Amino acid sequence: MSEATRMVDGGPHELDLLIIGAGPAGLYAAYYAGFRGLSSGLMDSLPEPGGQVAAMYPEKQIYDVAGFPSIKGQQLVDNLVEQAAPFSPRYFLNHRAEELVPGDDGQRVTVTSHRGVTVRCKAVIITGGIGTFTPRPLPDAQDFEGRGLVYFVPRLNELKDLDVLIVGGGDSAFDWALNLDGIARSVTLIHRRDRFRAHEHTVQQVLASPATVLTHTEVARIRGEERVRAVEVFNNRTDDRMTLDVQALVAALGFTADLGPLKRWGLEQRKRSIVVDTTMATNLPRVYAAGDIAEYEGKVRLIAVGFGEAATAVNNAATVIDPSAKLFPGHSSNKG
Ligand SMILES: Cc1cc2nc3c(=O)[nH]c(=O)nc-3n(C[C@H](O)[C@H](O)[C@H](O)COP(=O)(O)OP(=O)(O)OC[C@H]3O[C@@H](n4cnc5c(N)ncnc54)[C@H](O)[C@@H]3O)c2cc1C
Repeated sequence: MSEATRMVDGGPHELDLLIIGAGPAGLYAAYYAGFRGLSSGLMDSLPEPGGQVAAMYPEKQIYDVAGFPSIKGQQLVDNLVEQAAPFSPRYFLNHRAEELVPGDDGQRVTVTSHRGVTVRCKAVIITGGIGTFTPRPLPDAQDFEGRGLVYFVPRLNELKDLDVLIVGGGDSAFDWALNLDGIARSVTLIHRRDRFRAHEHTVQQVLASPATVLTHTEVARIRGEERVRAVEVFNNRTDDRMTLDVQALVAALGFTADLGPLKRWGLEQRKRSIVVDTTMATNLPRVYAAGDIAEYEGKVRLIAVGFGEAATAVNNAATVIDPSAKLFPGHSSNKG
């Protein structure tokens, strides 16, 4: 995203459609809105588009997106941004949608961000995923955040030729360990237990790799002045201590997700998700939901499913915005 794309004034901005959440479902909704001739905006609390994919696993291969036998997370996001770009969706990044108020006239919905930007639109699609997500912090380590300590690894090459310590026993920790093999100078993974939550196959791959895996081990102290220089770790059974000379520390301790402001908008909710009908409509007029956040009987949370739901939501919103519009727009291959 260019700086120019990020600059937005307080508004009110007038749009046909506002999409709350710029993850894969939201980005695809922006493409589809453009395809239907609707002006759209994408609001996201994160500084970059891509939702969970860009924030949590940009370097991982994804194998179950239709049409792509294998694609890297960030590449999928870049493709989605590119696909929507001809329709110039307006990006409101670093803006958490804080308030949503259906208009008295029944024709408009007004959304205000936590930084006071107001968008007036004819319909809203909420593609907020699991809500705003924040990594579980490594205790007493905040001084080193951005100075060698990271919670996500957006670009593996940033850790090139470094000695890297990964903390955690879940999928992310083991994925980073595997993906950093051959990029980092050395990889050490520590976990406070001897059982891992990660996929068994990945665990076996890491154990067979040059990475060192230490169980029952926790961080005692990070050393360094300007940046991480070494980390003192201890065995939580024996209290044995050792110092690892590392220049990077990846804390993969999971994350907490919070629907946050969405919970106060009067939406019907179930299992921390928003209940929708077969048109993806919520209980609020002109408000739709798609992707991970949408809930109905038999729901499956996959990127591929979110794409279909986004198209359904946009097409149904289009008929509410303009009652003379058709629900089925025809095929994209017949246009242009
Ligand atoms: C490690 C990992 C691996 C995965 N692997 C796969 C896989 O291989 N295949 C697959 O299909 N799925 C996979 N998934 C799941 C997949 O990432 C999700 O299903 C997908 O990201 C959901 O897309 P979404 O657009 O609905 O929501 P998200 O990607 O969660 O995006 C939602 C966006 O909404 C924003 N948001 C939330 N609330 C607000 C608010 N109030 N204001 C503004 N913005 C807000 C968030 O910041 C976020 O950017 C994986 C998930 C993880 C964590």
